[in-house]
Parts: sequence; C-alpha cells; structure tokens
Amino acid sequence: MSQMTDKAIGITREVAHIFGDTAAKAVDVSKGYARRAVSEAELRKKIYELGRICYEMYCSGTDNSGLIKAKIEEIKETEAHIRDAKESTGVKVICPVCGAQNTCSNTFCSKCGTHLNK
Ligand SMILES: [Zn+2]
Repeated sequence: MSQMTDKAIGITREVAHIFGDTAAKAVDVSKGYARRAVSEAELRKKIYELGRICYEMYCSGTDNSGLIKAKIEEIKETEAHIRDAKESTGVKVICPVCGAQNTCSNTFCSKCGTHLNK
C-alpha cells in the first residue's frame, strides 16, 4: 500500500513539475506579448511626437534637428525592444519572396537574402 502511495506521490510530483515548466513558459510568452504591446504603444507615441517636432519646426521656422535626431534614436531603441519581445514570443517573420520563416532579429531572409520589412 505504501509502495503505491509512494508511486502516486512520485507521479504527482512529476506531473506538477511538467505543469510548472509549461506554466513558466506560458508566463514568459505572455510577458513577451505584454512587453511588445507596451513598446508598440510607446512607438506610436514617439512617432507622433516626432511628427509634432517636425510640424512645429516647419511652422516656426526654427531648427529643431537636434530634437529630431534624439527622437529618432528613441524610436530605434523602442523598435529594438519590440524585436526582443517578438523573439521571446517565438514570432517569426515570413519572407515575402520565398516564404521562409526568419527570426525577428534577421534583417535579411536567411534563405534568399531578401530585405525583411518588420
Ligand atoms: Zn526569402
């Protein structure tokens, strides 16, 4: 009887371990989606701000090119965060020419070399 109990406890632990791993992976993936959503919202905001800076520069005739460069750097950084978040969720970029699946960090298709728009 105690042997069966030990076996049952062993199996239960094993199952709990498997579920624990799966749950941890699911949490990582959902954190990746959440980070991506936050970064995409930030990206839209920064692109809007860039537009405001350009518009105000045009209307006022003042040189805000320093602000523009700084905003573009912020945008590039946010785009990198989005790429990282996409990597963590396993999102693939499909090549429009050959259909190969590429990781988000690829700028060019690993199969045919086409530039990947992300
Ligand atoms: Zn390709």
